[in-house]
Amino acid sequence: MTVEHHAVVVGGGIAGLAAAASLLQEGWAVTVLERASAFTEVGAGLAITPNGMSALAALGADAAARTAGHRVRMTGTTDEHGSWLLRVPPAGPSGSGQEIHGIHRQDLHGVLLAAAHGAVLVTGTRVVSVTPGAANGARARVDCVSAKGAVSYDADLVIGADGLRSTVRSLVAPATAPRFSGKSSWRGIVADSALVTEDVTIMWGPGTEFGAIRVGAAQVYWYGYTSSEEGHRWPDEKAAALHHFRTWADPVLPLIDRTPGDQVIRHDVYDLAPDLRTYVVGRVVLIGDAAHAMVPTMGQGANSSLEDGACIGLLIGRPVNGGVALQAALSTFDALRRPRTQKIARQSRSAGRVGAGLDSRISIAVRNTLMRVVPAGSAMKAGASVLAWRAPA
Ligand SMILES: Cc1cc2nc3c(=O)[nH]c(=O)nc-3n(C[C@H](O)[C@H](O)[C@H](O)COP(=O)(O)OP(=O)(O)OC[C@H]3O[C@@H](n4cnc5c(N)ncnc54)[C@H](O)[C@@H]3O)c2cc1C
Repeated sequence: MTVEHHAVVVGGGIAGLAAAASLLQEGWAVTVLERASAFTEVGAGLAITPNGMSALAALGADAAARTAGHRVRMTGTTDEHGSWLLRVPPAGPSGSGQEIHGIHRQDLHGVLLAAAHGAVLVTGTRVVSVTPGAANGARARVDCVSAKGAVSYDADLVIGADGLRSTVRSLVAPATAPRFSGKSSWRGIVADSALVTEDVTIMWGPGTEFGAIRVGAAQVYWYGYTSSEEGHRWPDEKAAALHHFRTWADPVLPLIDRTPGDQVIRHDVYDLAPDLRTYVVGRVVLIGDAAHAMVPTMGQGANSSLEDGACIGLLIGRPVNGGVALQAALSTFDALRRPRTQKIARQSRSAGRVGAGLDSRISIAVRNTLMRVVPAGSAMKAGASVLAWRAPA
């Protein structure tokens, strides 16, 4: 007789839903606990890179993600006046030869919700405490509060996918906490079919990066990543963004200008410090931003969360079904996922220092000169190894 294993996933974001979908594929019973009153995402976009698409393929959700998103071309980076700093040689229909899809975050979330069909999805339920149990002994317990009162769940496995300010992480690894990056990011979605074509826009100016990517036939996502004081709020975020970018070349101002004012959002940007020494405690495993929140300069936070989610089923759910001890499976997960995701977080910090991290005229001039002479291939090497990841067979 096969024993059905039960996992509790804390957090119904990109990482949590991907983990739920991968465990369901392995025949586990899954409960997802989400503190918000509905499963949803912020009004912004992102780029699914080949590694994220491989994770989605492992969940059987790649076709749906391609349909929901929009295939785009990486063409390179310009300065704020639109003059090329780094130009990716055209190679096939997607420019870099890599398949990249822009997608609205709510659409990606919808794709993952469909893939997690069969999980028990519980909203309006905040996890307040986790007893990790022992990988080779007592089951874990998750305690929550909801409008109906306190409720507890026993689990063979608890996945802490509750984001940057993870309650699960604070219980199992209290020394690691969010660290403000000195940056915040305006983000918006604009209804448009003409301003930006299939080419991804990336522009670097003093202390600032602007990016735009088509996420649908008639929708473009843009972001403006710049220096900021922690917690600062502008009375009118759209007006502040228009002022900040007033001297930048097209398509920057038209994109901001055409975005409805109440849909221009801004978030301070954090990563985690110090790095976690392990993602695993007892029967608890941390994934996504809870484990390795990173600055968005390589566009890998959500993509690495998709990888984590797929690996929960492939590296833990499947082997445990096959008779491997949970402790061994958790150790394998930690040994494979922690070095990779912490390396991407470090690379993202370094990329940020070279791009929006520079604000003195002299250092920007030196960087721009170097970028114009360095062959695109060698400049893109670090990123290439990140994108080359494929889900374990
Ligand atoms: C400005 C900005 C731009 C970005 N751009 C990109 C990009 O272009 N590409 C990319 O790949 N990544 C990008 N990222 C990173 C990406 O957004 C995150 O890495 C990704 O969303 C992490 O997903 P997650 O599921 O781990 O966490 P989250 O999306 O934060 O989900 C956590 C969930 O847990 C729930 N929760 C929290 N606490 C509890 C609790 N106690 N009990 C129950 N539920 C709880 C929350 O409500 C939430 O639904 C960006 C991030 C920022 C800030």
